[in-house]
Amino acid sequence: DFDREIKVLVVGDGGVGKTSMIRRFCKGMFTDEYKKTIGVDFMEKPLFVDKLGEEVRFMLWDTAGQEEFNSITRVYYRGAGAAVIAFATNDRASFDAVASWKDKIEAECGEVAIALVQNKVDLVHQSAMTAEEVEGLARKLGCKLYRTCVKEDINVTEVFVYLAELHDKK
Ligand code: GDP
Repeated sequence: DFDREIKVLVVGDGGVGKTSMIRRFCKGMFTDEYKKTIGVDFMEKPLFVDKLGEEVRFMLWDTAGQEEFNSITRVYYRGAGAAVIAFATNDRASFDAVASWKDKIEAECGEVAIALVQNKVDLVHQSAMTAEEVEGLARKLGCKLYRTCVKEDINVTEVFVYLAELHDKK
C-alpha cells in the first residue's frame, strides 16, 4: 500500500525526450529507437522519498506522439497533481513553446506542481538558447529549472522527487 499517489504529466514539443524520460525514470533504461505507441502511454514507479518519509507511487502519463492539444489529449490532464514541461537544448522552438504548455496545464489542472526541464544537456555545443535566457524564463514562469540528460541518466530522478515534495506543500 502506498502513502501517496501522484499523477504526473510530461508535456513539451515532440522530440524533446518525454518518452525517453518516462522510460528512464520508470524502467531505468534508455534506447535510441523504440516503437512509439499512438495515443497515451501510462507507466508507474514506486519511489521512497526521503524528505517525505514515505513511499510515493508516481503515475506517469506520456502524450508523446499526440502533442497536438485536443479533446482527446485533454482528458489525460484530468487529475494530474504535477507536471514536467520539457524542452531540448538544441531545439529553439521547443523552448519558445514552454509558456504555452504551462498555460495548457493551468487551464486544465489549475495550480499544480510544475518543473521546467531542459533535456539533452549533452548537446550543449548545439545549444539554441543561452543559459541566461533559460534561467530568465524559469524565473518569469516561477518554475524550478532542472537540466537533464536522459541519455546519460543525469538529474532525472531529482525532477520527480522535487515534484513529490512540492506537491506535498500545495
Ligand atoms: P518525445 O517525442 O518528446 O517523447 O521524445 P523521445 O523520447 O522520443 O526522444 C526523441 C529523441 O531524442 C530520441 O532519439 C531520443 O533517443 C533522444 N534523446 C532523449 N533524451 C536525450 C538526451 O538526453 N540526449 C540526447 N542526445 N538525445 C536524447
